[in-house]
Amino acid sequence: MTTLYIVATPIGNLKDITLRALEVLGGVDLILCEDTRVTSKLLNRYQINTQLVSYHQHSKIRKVDYILNFLRQGKNLALVSDAGTPGISDPGNQLIKEILAKIPQTEITAVPGPSAVIAAASISGLPTDRFFFMGFPPAKKRRKKFLESIVNSKYSVVFYESPHRIIKTLKELKELSPKSEMVVCRELTKKFETVHRGTIEETFKILEGQKPRGEFVIIVNNKVGQK
Ligand code: SAM
Repeated sequence: MTTLYIVATPIGNLKDITLRALEVLGGVDLILCEDTRVTSKLLNRYQINTQLVSYHQHSKIRKVDYILNFLRQGKNLALVSDAGTPGISDPGNQLIKEILAKIPQTEITAVPGPSAVIAAASISGLPTDRFFFMGFPPAKKRRKKFLESIVNSKYSVVFYESPHRIIKTLKELKELSPKSEMVVCRELTKKFETVHRGTIEETFKILEGQKPRGEFVIIVNNKVGQK
């Protein structure tokens, strides 16, 4: 039986890798990654020499056939993304679907570890017994609906945002619900990690004058005090 390991990798700090992830990455026949330059840094750090092949959700059918042939030959593969857990706003799901459709006996095994959504939720101090994860807000179509669903949610909502759009998104959220609680997590586990907590209008005020850089996860809660 062949195995595709879905391996979580650090979201910044290269020390955030599990012993099992290192063992698996060093032991498989091939590692599928988004960007070979990014994953090479991690592999070099831990002296892992496994061959890398780039894979993303829009990879050509030829690439998928190449991966399927590898599995048919009885080889084991690992899938990683640039950072965090594959399949969480990252490539993975489509490949797993295709593999299971064509080689259903393949074992799909999780090698869990960091994910920005969980890291942010865990330090938020907001209710997270139940929460929604909404990925990235859309740029145009259905954007308004997306933002409204954040401020109308009865559970905490976690979402990702790029540095180019964070101010615009915070501004629009502030107009919808200035008093909702918000935690803005930037560059988690990295040198310039920053966490801002307050109402949406307070956090917007802090960030509006800055030129945002880095990676962001945002958490909003409209009913603090409830689970
Ligand atoms: N699969 C990844 C995971 O499990 O964390 C997420 C991939 S998604 C394409 C990338 C987004 O995750 C970034 O744009 C940012 O919103 C968030 N992110 C990743 N690393 C982060 C970090 N160190 N600090 C804050 N946000 C981060």
